[in-house]
Amino acid sequence: MKRSLIKIVIIVFFFLFFVYNFVLADSIKYLGHSCFLIEVDSKKILIDPYSYDMGYPLLSKINLKEVNLILSTHEHFDHFNKDVFKISQKLSIPYFVGTKDDGQNWNPINYKFDKIYVNSINTYHDSSLGNDRGKNSVIVIKTNKFKIAHLGDLGHILDKKQAESLKSVDFLFVPVGGFFTISSAEAVKIIKTLSPKVVIPMHYKTKYTRDFPISDINEFIKLSEKELKDYVLVKKEYSDMIIKVDNIKNKSIFCFIMN
Ligand SMILES: [Zn+2]
Repeated sequence: MKRSLIKIVIIVFFFLFFVYNFVLADSIKYLGHSCFLIEVDSKKILIDPYSYDMGYPLLSKINLKEVNLILSTHEHFDHFNKDVFKISQKLSIPYFVGTKDDGQNWNPINYKFDKIYVNSINTYHDSSLGNDRGKNSVIVIKTNKFKIAHLGDLGHILDKKQAESLKSVDFLFVPVGGFFTISSAEAVKIIKTLSPKVVIPMHYKTKYTRDFPISDINEFIKLSEKELKDYVLVKKEYSDMIIKVDNIKNKSIFCFIMN
């Protein structure tokens, strides 16, 4: 009798452990380029879904029926997937885009659902007030537990007011490839200013973006090893693109190697 009770307790323990760690736990999954699937409080938020033509395989594996909210920092094809947009309309999934008129104007986001609040910060896609590449928006997601900022295709260093709005950010998704966005060196400057708990670099050259005139992740890795010594650098492989949010103890930079 006693033995079977112990067995049941062990089974229940492992079941709860499994549910907590693999079903309920908050997580961030990198889908390549600037696209992430964020899971918080059992809600799924997809951000910057790229065009399927880019060849990254992970977005097409996402079951959009399970997604609660979709966001794009701006309208460029590598951040806004027209097919995903059409499906979102059919499935009545809210989809907000931070620019309009093909990037000529901002389309500010202000949206609240459950205990998740989403807003955007108006920025530019270049360092010449949008004259070369138009507008960009930084998307901020605040939950009870943490604050995430996705910098989109930010093309300049943040001004005081923008940096102030991003104060005490926990997770920072930052472009590092240069050319269309800020460079690795500018990304490092922004990281030093904002001092987020976790940094995830994005928008760098991989085998899928071989023809893009952007740098690969190594330039950012080298720079951050030199300049961001208070961070632990974690290199993750293609087969392991998920970060379990609750398990992060140190200030960390997660680099996803997709070569
Ligand atoms: Zn862009």
